[in-house]
Order: sequence, then structure tokens, then C-alpha cells
Amino acid sequence: MTPFLDLKKINARYRSELLEACTKVIDSGWYVHGSEHEEFENEFAQYCGAKYTIGVANGLDALILILRAYKEMGIMDDGDEVIVPSNTYIASILAISQNSLVPVLVEPDINTYLLDWTKIEEKITSKTKAIMPVHLYGQTCEMDNINKIAKKYNLKVIEDSAQSHGAYFKDKRCGNLGDASGFSFYPGKNLGALGDGGAVTTNDKNLANTIKALGNYGSQKKYKNLYKGTNSRLDEIQASMLRVKLRYLDNEIENRREIANYYLKNIKNENIILPQLKHENNHVWHLFVIRTTKRDELQKYLLSNEIQTLIHYPLAPHKQEAYKEWKNESYPISEQIHDEVLSLPISGVQKIENTKKIVEIINAY
Ligand SMILES: *Cc1c(COP(=O)(O)O)cnc(C)c1O
Repeated sequence: MTPFLDLKKINARYRSELLEACTKVIDSGWYVHGSEHEEFENEFAQYCGAKYTIGVANGLDALILILRAYKEMGIMDDGDEVIVPSNTYIASILAISQNSLVPVLVEPDINTYLLDWTKIEEKITSKTKAIMPVHLYGQTCEMDNINKIAKKYNLKVIEDSAQSHGAYFKDKRCGNLGDASGFSFYPGKNLGALGDGGAVTTNDKNLANTIKALGNYGSQKKYKNLYKGTNSRLDEIQASMLRVKLRYLDNEIENRREIANYYLKNIKNENIILPQLKHENNHVWHLFVIRTTKRDELQKYLLSNEIQTLIHYPLAPHKQEAYKEWKNESYPISEQIHDEVLSLPISGVQKIENTKKIVEIINAY
């Protein structure tokens, strides 16, 4: 069986370095907010080209804390609106709802699956305060056009970079393409911890300080509480694992690009639509997503040939029970995407020989 993603194999590559890093933390006697956390924050900020990184407990918290900080800073208020793509993973939308803000869904481009910037302006109202572009599947959004609209209407741009560590737009990496960016280090992400983890990057010092305090009970100075904060921390062991894996991230992205290029060049099946990209550097291939009207059939066929695939995602956010207020709304492009997409195996350790076998089976379908 070719698994969709073999995390054991990915982490086994770095086993001795991970063990060494973990041992160092165990022996240090310091397990939360110590030197590993601080070093990781510095290294990740440098990697993204952003001034500040704030380690937090997970990707959802990263997005929640950015919005929460803007509320504390007086930039957003209950009931304000945030524009978000209608086909994103639910976490982007939850981060908005959890702050008593209103998610306003905008359809994606059917070719790239990314927020369609040409449809943003018609959704802007006097309550709109931010746009949240999601670099879905690992490809950066049309950031020049999005930032231009944001500037015109005085909106914040909050990147959801949970799937796109290392992806470029022109000469800048995600994490440095808007006002703030949320990252996830969930084990299956391109930069994955061995548990949960997340981070915010930004160039805004005031925002960085506010988020840092909010994730630490609302406190900047011990026992002095500026805000009604929460506890959201990236622990020392996860930070130490991430420092090891960050060193190999670009290598893994290279491997993903090789696999993606092989798929793009060699999958020849008229039932299948391959992903489109604007520039090779813009895509880090967190997922290799194809589209076909015979999706469920193809998935079964591949499984019967020992190839595991997944669907990202099977049900559009506006069709979820959690958002029953959107039950009667229609987002036809999203619905089509949710009905037709299928994610093929891809990772930083997948071999071309294996990919070749997968392609042969797909082409024979
Ligand atoms: C994974 C993911 C998140 C949430 O990250 P967690 O670390 O799982 O909380 C948010 N947005 C997108 C697009 C994601 O893929």
C-alpha cells in the first residue's frame, strides 16, 4: 500500500537529531518558553523574512490571536467583517467566528483554488476590516492585487499560511506578504512538529507584543495582566523538534517539487484536470490536488490498486452543520471543487519510482 502520507518515514530521517534535541530539553529542566522557543522564533522569522515570530499552541490559535490582538488594539470590533475564501479549511473561518467577527465568504478561482481577488470588492462593506487570503494547498494567493484592494479600503491582510511554509510570491515568502500571518506546525503540515504547534509572523512590533501578551494570560510582565488573555504556548520540546526540521524544509520542498513536476508532466488522462500554477516558486505542494467529475470512482479505483488518496475537503464550510446559518447560500465554484477534488500522495520523502507507479495506474484508468 502507498500511504497518502508516511509521517513515520519523514521523521525517521531526522531521528538522531530529533533525539539529541529532545534530550537537551529534558536535561535543561526548562520546558516552556525557554531558549529553544526563543531560538525557533528567531530562526523562523528569518526564514520567512518577517521581523517577528510568536510561537503559539497551534495554527488555529495563531489566527485567533491575530484577530483578537486587532480587537484589543481598537482596530476591530464585535460584528466587523473579515473576507475569507469559501473553500478554505474550516479553521480559517472558525478563527473569525470565535472573535465575534463575521466571516464573509468569497469564491475561489476554479483554476488555482485560491481566493478570487476580482470578487473581493463587491463584498466590501463599511464593516469590513480585513481580508484573510489562504495559501491553500501550498500556493500563494495573488498578493499584489489583494494588498492593493486592502490599501484602498484600509483593511488588514491576514495570511493563513498553514499549508504554505516557504512558498514565495515574487521575492518574498509567505509570512511576509501581508500585515500578519498564521502558521500551523501540525505533524502533517510541510513543517510539522511531533505534536501541535503554531506561530504568528508579522513586521508590526505593536501587534507582535499584543499577541505575545494575549497568549500568555494577557501579561507582558509577570503577574501584571493587561488583557483577559489565554494560554497558548509552543513548548520547548516542540520548538526543539521544529528547529531541527526547519533546517531541512527547503530540501523537502525541493523533493515535493520534483514529485509534482513528475505528476504534471506524466499524468495523461482526459478525465483528470491537473493543478495550475503561476510560478514554480509560488507553490510548495503541501497537497497535489487533481479534479475529476468521477472523483469517488477514481478514489475507489486507486485504493483497489493500493494507492491511498484523501479529499481536501469533502464538504464546503457553508454546508457544515456548524454554520447552518449559511444553509441556503450558494457558492457554486466551492461546491464544484468540494465534489471533484482528490489529493494524490506527495511528501518530502516520496520517491520518483513510487510516483511513476502511481502515474501508470492513473493513466490506465
Ligand atoms: C491546518 C490548518 C489550520 C489549523 O492549524 P492547526 O495547527 O491544526 O490548528 C488553519 N488553516 C489551514 C488552511 C490549515 O490547513
